[in-house]
Amino acid sequence: AGWSLSCRRNVSSSPSRLQSCMPGWVIDQYGTNGVLTYTEDIPVPTVNSPSDVMIKVYAASLNPLDIAMRGGYGATLLKLKRHPMSVLGSDYGSEFPLILGRDVSGVVVDCGSEVTHVAPGDEVWAAVPPWKQGSLAEFVTLTEYEVSHKPKSVSHAEAASIPYVANTALSALVNAGGLCRDSSSNKRVLITGGSGGVGTFSIQLLKAWGAHVTVTCSQNAEGLVRGLGADEVVDYTAEDASEQLEMMEKFDVVLDNVGGETEQLALGLLKPWSGAKYVTLVTPLLPNTDSMGLLNGMCQAGSSLQSKAIQNIISGGVFYRWGFYAPDGPALDDVSRLVDAGKILPVVEAQFPFTQVPQAFQKLEQGHARGKTVVRVT
Ligand code: NDP
Repeated sequence: AGWSLSCRRNVSSSPSRLQSCMPGWVIDQYGTNGVLTYTEDIPVPTVNSPSDVMIKVYAASLNPLDIAMRGGYGATLLKLKRHPMSVLGSDYGSEFPLILGRDVSGVVVDCGSEVTHVAPGDEVWAAVPPWKQGSLAEFVTLTEYEVSHKPKSVSHAEAASIPYVANTALSALVNAGGLCRDSSSNKRVLITGGSGGVGTFSIQLLKAWGAHVTVTCSQNAEGLVRGLGADEVVDYTAEDASEQLEMMEKFDVVLDNVGGETEQLALGLLKPWSGAKYVTLVTPLLPNTDSMGLLNGMCQAGSSLQSKAIQNIISGGVFYRWGFYAPDGPALDDVSRLVDAGKILPVVEAQFPFTQVPQAFQKLEQGHARGKTVVRVT
């Protein structure tokens, strides 16, 4: 691998007045693991706007998006979000050097003048939006709305396993799935891919909200998902997995973490003509904009969504929706309370020191996640 570990150094708990650079892992081009490079020359992301919160990163975690973004996934749309003028041509801003890492648990070191919710010294957690510089570095700077107080009962490494999957699951289940704490009891929810990061979080959230949860996963993950509260578990590798699902009482909501062939099967498992919703996290929006360009890609994705939505409402009376991560600090405040109440446990499968970020990527890239892969930064 082409990554270097030669320039590790001690870091202080807050940026000294003289410190203008920080250590971190960057990519300067898209590619395989070899593009991950350790450097101590990243400009410190200081507070630049009244709502900015600068955080010293204690722990980060990886998501499948990090692997995908390392390879260029979503580059077209994310570049537009970072540099709106880039729509005019490639001369308008480059994303490199790009810092990956979507989760942070750490301590606030500086705040903009209008920040009221957190203060320097506070322990916080957040999910870093993909269009911002990530958390695989000594510091990350976000807006106040994205940041939330970390649960007190868990370590930074455990806390870092939660924000991105939590913001994704909440956005998908609440905004697209129409569920909430007060409307979920007695709702039957199917989670496909229940053994991964989003799945292990969603099972616990839905159980805390009183829903009945069925999960699909590999046989060797059954103990894990049952331990998190899953009421029924179907081994998707079993020959009769589809039959098992089809024989069950129909569902109010499906959260699909798998996509592909699972989509058609899952749509047929919803209660017809009763407001049931299929929400998939596996959407063609970013891949389409990457392969077809911004305008064509978005049009193609939009028309695919529209035609599936219409087809499913006409044929079975079920809603077809896409779910997306959305930054939401206040939602993380609620999750923090659930963690401190012992209702949501961090599911950390593997931890890596900051010197071994490429190994952490390799672990995630092998697939078969059972919860989350965490990087201890400090
Ligand atoms: P993970 O990699 O953490 O988990 C995926 C899990 O699915 C693994 O445990 C895997 O285990 C299991 N799995 C694989 N194939 C199947 C199958 N056919 N049926 C049931 N389980 C299966 O991913 P995340 O939970 O973090 O994310 C889930 C998906 O959602 C990913 O595709 C991700 O890219 C996407 N996502 C989309 C977001 C958005 O904004 N739209 C945001 C976040 C995630 P095993 O292979 O051993 O069975």
